[in-house]
Amino acid sequence: MVIKPKVRGFICTNAHPAGCTASVKEQIAYVKSKGDISTKPKNVLVIGCSTGYGLASRITSAFGAGAKTLGICFEKPPTERKTGTAGWYNTAAFHSEAKQADLYAKTINGDAFSHAIKDETIELIKQDLGKIDLVVYSLASPRRNDPDTGDAYVSTLKPVGEPVVSKTFDTNKKEVHEISLEPANQDEINNTIKVMGGEDWELWIKRLSDAGVLAENCVTSSYTYIGKELTQPIYGHATIGKAKEDLDRASTALNSDYSDLGLRAYVTSLKAVVTQASSAIPVMPLYISLMYQVMKEEGTHEGVIEQIYGLFDTLLLEQSPEMDESKRLRMDGVETNDHIQGKIKAIWPNVTTENFPELGDYKGYNEDFLKLFGFGFDGVDYDADISPFADWE
Ligand code: NAD
Repeated sequence: MVIKPKVRGFICTNAHPAGCTASVKEQIAYVKSKGDISTKPKNVLVIGCSTGYGLASRITSAFGAGAKTLGICFEKPPTERKTGTAGWYNTAAFHSEAKQADLYAKTINGDAFSHAIKDETIELIKQDLGKIDLVVYSLASPRRNDPDTGDAYVSTLKPVGEPVVSKTFDTNKKEVHEISLEPANQDEINNTIKVMGGEDWELWIKRLSDAGVLAENCVTSSYTYIGKELTQPIYGHATIGKAKEDLDRASTALNSDYSDLGLRAYVTSLKAVVTQASSAIPVMPLYISLMYQVMKEEGTHEGVIEQIYGLFDTLLLEQSPEMDESKRLRMDGVETNDHIQGKIKAIWPNVTTENFPELGDYKGYNEDFLKLFGFGFDGVDYDADISPFADWE
């Protein structure tokens, strides 16, 4: 089939296999160009391994440290009539590149929140790897079924406390306009914490530890976004921010519960980037476009792979890494420093639909968005009739 992007609102409903391969190769080339990271994990489990920050974590582990990687994701395979999801093709491409480099790579596709997938993971670790020394928790999901009760929980993206009026860019109508968001009720806050908070991360570590498959001095990190004044009303101080605060609670609990094992659990704050998860958040497309404009002008722009390579090389695997007052690892300083934020804040009130193309880097935002699904890579023939099928082994 000839595959062209089918964009519906903030998602693209198809993906290009050759483009996704190009995307994975680009990240691998970046890591190789930087060389090996300073402290090398051997056996890495990445929960949420197929796109965004999780995929970058897997690529850095494999190609920056020669690590064996086991990934967990939730992706749709291709059919005769429909392409697979981008994460499916990314994973196929990653497996192929890992195989050529003689690196172990296996992936389990299924619901990471379930007991069954945790059990399958543990069996595979016992069979192939023995013990894991780094667990990256990089899930982003709008829903979660409680594994014990089967109850379904859905997360919401709403302010907490007061209604919020902010500017946003409607990627459908291509318009900058004001939006007014009503605050979440307590149920919505609790449900968001249930989906995106620390409970499932803790369950993973407990199951892995009980099964004896965590190495001594194992490191684990989940990822957060903290942001500053412009994004806090809809992120940091909003429902998703409450869930992220619960990650801080979980990391404290993990460090205490598994101190005998020497486990080091961190929440790492990363900068805002275009991913499938972030494009669904109101205000973010506008904020990221302005931030891209400013950071590109300053020569400090970074995407997922630059952030994760930096994290792995300088902080995550160190014995005593620098932490903030809440004991988090911080990679977001490039974005949240006063100089960059001051420039974004100066532009923010003046942005209109008409001047947005000059004031903001929506072009860069949109290119990055399409690239998430494999569209817009040089050297890929998008008019070619290609098979949507791609296998993992
Ligand atoms: P993403 O949407 O690109 O990736 C999500 C991953 O989770 C995919 O691999 C997907 O397959 C997997 N997944 C989702 N539901 C699953 C399930 N039920 N079972 C198994 N796998 C499942 O998201 P991302 O933006 O890379 O986010 C990853 C983490 O990084 C999140 O915690 C997010 O809050 C955080 N973060 C993101 C940003 C940003 O700007 N995108 C910034 C800072 C921190």
